[in-house]
Amino acid sequence: MDPFDSNVADRANLPRNMIENSMFEEEPDVVDLAKDSAAFPTFPALDPDEVVYEPRSSRLLVRGLGENDMDEEDEDCESSARLLGMSFMNRSSAHRSSSSPYTRQAAPRSCSRPSARTTVVCVLFLVIGASMTMLLYFLPGCTFTKAGCKKTNKTTPFEPVYPLSTNGKLFPWAQYRLPRSVRPLSYDLTFNPDLDHMTFTGRTVITMSVLHNTKIIVLHSANLNITKATFKLGDKETRDVTVLEYQPKQQIAVQLSEEMLAGQYCVLTLDYSASFSHTYDGFYNSSYIDKDGNKRVLAATQFEPLSARKAFPCFDEPAFKATFLIKISRKQNYMTLSNMPQAKSTPLSEGLVLDEFEKTSVNMSTYLVAFIVADFNPNSKNVSKTLVSVYSVPDKKAHTDYALDTASKLLEFYNDYFEINYPLKKLDLVAIPDFLAGAMENWGLITFRETTLLVGNQSSPLEKQVVASVIAHELAHQWFGNLVTMSWWNDLWLNEGFATYMQYMSLQHVFPKLDIGNLFLAVRFRALDKDALNSSHAVSTEVNNPEQVEEMFDSVSYEKGASILMMLEAWLPGEQQFRKGIIQYLKQFSGLNTDTDDLWNSLTQVSVSHHNVSEMMRSWTSQKGFPLVTVSRKGDQVTLTQEHFLLTSDNATYTSSLWNIPVTYVTDNCSLASECRQMFNLKTKSGTLKLPESVKWLKLNCNNTGFYIVHYGKEGWAALQDALSSNVHVLTQEDRASLIHNIFALSRLGHVSFYDVLNMLKYMSNETESSPVTEALSQLNAIYRLLDKRQEDSLVARMKHYILDLFGSLMDNQTWVEEESVSKQELRSALLGSACSLNQESCIQKAKALFKHYDESNGTSRIPGDLQQVVFSVAAQSNDDWETLLHMYQINTYDAEKRKMLRGLASTQDARRIVWILKAGLRGDIIQTQELPLVISTVCNGFTGYLFAWNFIQENWDRLIEKFPLGSYAIQTIINAATSQFSTQVHLEQAQGFFSSLKERGSQMRSVQEALETIRLNQRWMEKNLPALHRGL
Ligand SMILES: [Zn+2]
Repeated sequence: MDPFDSNVADRANLPRNMIENSMFEEEPDVVDLAKDSAAFPTFPALDPDEVVYEPRSSRLLVRGLGENDMDEEDEDCESSARLLGMSFMNRSSAHRSSSSPYTRQAAPRSCSRPSARTTVVCVLFLVIGASMTMLLYFLPGCTFTKAGCKKTNKTTPFEPVYPLSTNGKLFPWAQYRLPRSVRPLSYDLTFNPDLDHMTFTGRTVITMSVLHNTKIIVLHSANLNITKATFKLGDKETRDVTVLEYQPKQQIAVQLSEEMLAGQYCVLTLDYSASFSHTYDGFYNSSYIDKDGNKRVLAATQFEPLSARKAFPCFDEPAFKATFLIKISRKQNYMTLSNMPQAKSTPLSEGLVLDEFEKTSVNMSTYLVAFIVADFNPNSKNVSKTLVSVYSVPDKKAHTDYALDTASKLLEFYNDYFEINYPLKKLDLVAIPDFLAGAMENWGLITFRETTLLVGNQSSPLEKQVVASVIAHELAHQWFGNLVTMSWWNDLWLNEGFATYMQYMSLQHVFPKLDIGNLFLAVRFRALDKDALNSSHAVSTEVNNPEQVEEMFDSVSYEKGASILMMLEAWLPGEQQFRKGIIQYLKQFSGLNTDTDDLWNSLTQVSVSHHNVSEMMRSWTSQKGFPLVTVSRKGDQVTLTQEHFLLTSDNATYTSSLWNIPVTYVTDNCSLASECRQMFNLKTKSGTLKLPESVKWLKLNCNNTGFYIVHYGKEGWAALQDALSSNVHVLTQEDRASLIHNIFALSRLGHVSFYDVLNMLKYMSNETESSPVTEALSQLNAIYRLLDKRQEDSLVARMKHYILDLFGSLMDNQTWVEEESVSKQELRSALLGSACSLNQESCIQKAKALFKHYDESNGTSRIPGDLQQVVFSVAAQSNDDWETLLHMYQINTYDAEKRKMLRGLASTQDARRIVWILKAGLRGDIIQTQELPLVISTVCNGFTGYLFAWNFIQENWDRLIEKFPLGSYAIQTIINAATSQFSTQVHLEQAQGFFSSLKERGSQMRSVQEALETIRLNQRWMEKNLPALHRGL
């Protein structure tokens, strides 16, 4: 899946829930279903009765303990802080400029300090709570059931405690993961959707093989009303059975009177009815307005990670691979699509038709099943032995050519690169009008947002870059994820890190003109920034509940995953080593499930030069964070020292983690060609290499292909600055961007002062390349926004002056006409975006003129794609033009442009409009709810909007988590956008108060911990650097 909203620059991720992972949460080891035997794999004997179950009430108690730090007074304070926060909206201020007439009132700091009484009550509660927890834990678990206690078994000190089913009977399974005693072999699925009433009925027939003697079958089902169930064991008669349901874990079970024996086969048939999902997952309905103004309804699926169970009862874990035969009934004016080609169509009564698809020719995980009922049109072409089709709503068929061409070329590339042909006869790429993620890699039926698949012929290369990237990502998944699948969500990076890396790698080969390298570099910088936080997590990390599964879709799985693969490929000798390793991995595990070690072992096996890939890479996937490498020189000795680059607000918890770092470096003797690159393996705390004393400077981490940050010491930095000041071209632009990123990061860590940062930036007056300029601008703009939100008015003015001064001539040199080169477009949109947002007069005038021309031309003139955002954002600041833009947004059918209009609309500094647009995003009529995270991010960038957005999120939290699952990327984005610009104690306390009040509605999310940590770090950085900013800017 590509969950990332390509237009939201800042990508979020976050920490583990200590309480949910307490000693009470016991899960069996992840068992790889498929590896033992391709035909009928066996599982380690695991009798459900032998597994200890956590007493639910004790877990609740523990959770209560973790949250009792929010007492009544805190709650009072929280509400009063919110009231104060609200009151600022209605108060005009003399401090702000006329464009931002709102200011806030600081909440009294003392109000959330607990009183002595509160403290005593807290301590007492803690003591009582802890004692109760211990007592309950050591009591027989069955205290919590109606069934009374079973006899204690000497070998199992804790009896499992089974929960109650919805019908009041004991549910025979007590764990989050399903038992391994039966395994599905094939599903026969029939769906009868009723698009008039938004309901469907279904029949699921599952053929299973028994792996261990058992009396129970446990599988997943969510929000399905099961109306009939029959069961057949081997040759015996089919009979009715009762289905038990345990809703909190979305599980159903059939308990049999006789034992099924290992080696037997059985068939379970379930009839059910359900409503379409109202969110963006499961089997959900969507609609669009056609060119005649009619509303057209359709239905589509999104199952990853945990929603196949909302459409049909199934073993909804990635290791339970099976084959699928799918049938869907439809009205005659609709068409259906599924993973496989259609096999036949049979007329039914009342004008309905039953479409039947071929049985899947491959075993696949449930999260990859997909089907669509719609009235879409295809645009198709044969590529090798595969029919590639791009589907869209009929009015947008003209926008499908680019995607078809791109997908065809990339399919050929991957067929060749992996030396395994895409295994299905057809590949559909479908643009769905309502779609939350960027895209989803369902095998043979990839679904997309319209913005990530459809572009017009006249679109700019930057717009094509987005579409090509997402297609490249999803196509790579057809091998990484679909053919070879992670055993469990803890190794999601095996899917996502790989697909992300392949997306950049394949585009560099197939579409070099798209210049994707700059984007990948920026993505790696942001991944480092996220992973530097204490709340980050290891690439491969434990996952034990639905929220944690959702949270795995974050920048660590995707972008750090991709970054460490790039580092590995750069380290392996010879061009083809990496490729040979992954071909070996794909062939060895084709159709199966794997974990991280399987990948490293495959790569080690093909290594020609005894490079121990496992040894090196485990240090990057099994621990969170990354190293800081510090360089010191004495004579001809260069000492490299490593430590964990950990941003913490208390300076206290540095870890002793060590990484096996493939350090690369260049020197002033040879710094540009790839042969200049030298290697040094740093496995221990420190290492020494020799360099002639005549070497003036060295630069580590060539082209930033390694996932680490480098500190050169005062003299080392000075030497690099001198070199760049006299000639910027002594280093590649990637290396220059890497120096800029690293010095800002070191400033955040407190290892260099802001003076040092400003010194480094002095060379920028000679800089003209995209990567260093965009990196410097993004760092400076982030500081500008923090100062703005703190109302440090004089510093805001000086920072603005500083940015316009440093980049002024480069800004003035930019053109406003069509530009071919992607890299120049990136540079231009970053420079002009900054210039206009800082109110640079000439920028504003040119943008306004371009908008006027565009408006008056009645659709005949076009704003260059890379400048549309700048132009729409400027237009949205004027009353009349905002209305014009809203009208354009409503009638525009060109998705990429429409999205930029939306960002423009959301960038308004008019309070009434901000409130309107937030509400409209939640309602979903004029602005689709899928765009709400983008709207909130954009609103939060502005001074006027960020507190409105914060209040909006607090007031509408329950509705937000109804639309977007807890832990999901959308929720991560919203939390990050709302809080990442806070840097004061008042805001920290507000955020703490709100998030802790959420309790099970999200207080334990990693993104919440990241948010609080980020606010503390911002606060610390500001306190430390405000004097330097006052003196230095
Ligand atoms: Zn993906």
